[in-house]
Amino acid sequence: MPEQAVLAIGGNLGDRQKTIKSAIKHIKALEGVEVIKKSPLFESFAATAEGIDEKAPRYLNGVIQIETVLKPGVLLTKLREIETSHGRVRLERWGSRTLDIDIITYGNLIKDGKRLTLPHPRAYERAFVVVPWAAMDPSAKLLGHGSVAALAEDLKSQVWEV
Ligand code: ADP
Ligand code: MG
Repeated sequence: MPEQAVLAIGGNLGDRQKTIKSAIKHIKALEGVEVIKKSPLFESFAATAEGIDEKAPRYLNGVIQIETVLKPGVLLTKLREIETSHGRVRLERWGSRTLDIDIITYGNLIKDGKRLTLPHPRAYERAFVVVPWAAMDPSAKLLGHGSVAALAEDLKSQVWEV
């Protein structure tokens, strides 16, 4: 049975919009993955290990809803390949990047593994995840945190639509 999953896509280097569009095209092209819905894109200041950095290149982020027969670990591997093919280099955690793709939810799966935690443990507090998600799907629920629209309402001042 296919599962519904929500993916967050973003980056703060290069032509961000073009990279996100291309990433979605590559996700669509994956065997066993259908893209069901796409959110609008939102811009925000970079969050670094030291906090919000208004001088760092700004992020552009969106979310998509997919339906997939791939297991979550396999999906993560495929998404990593798409990140790499778009010039992502892993230098430091929370460092600038051309493309980051995170799995926010995968069906109702709860998992705390070495490679993969689901739902994504920081999704609920990230404006750049919940605001586009609520725009895409106003009735969405995040396991353990309830209404995504309610989370978005509290965080919406941190992001702006472009
Ligand atoms: P971040 O997305 O937190 O900025 P990375 O993309 O470098 O940083 O990912 C850090 C690690 O997070 C990866 O090694 C990946 O295995 C792990 N990870 C855990 N849960 C998830 C998830 N739900 N989606 C994507 N990556 C995850
Ligand atoms: Mg990531």
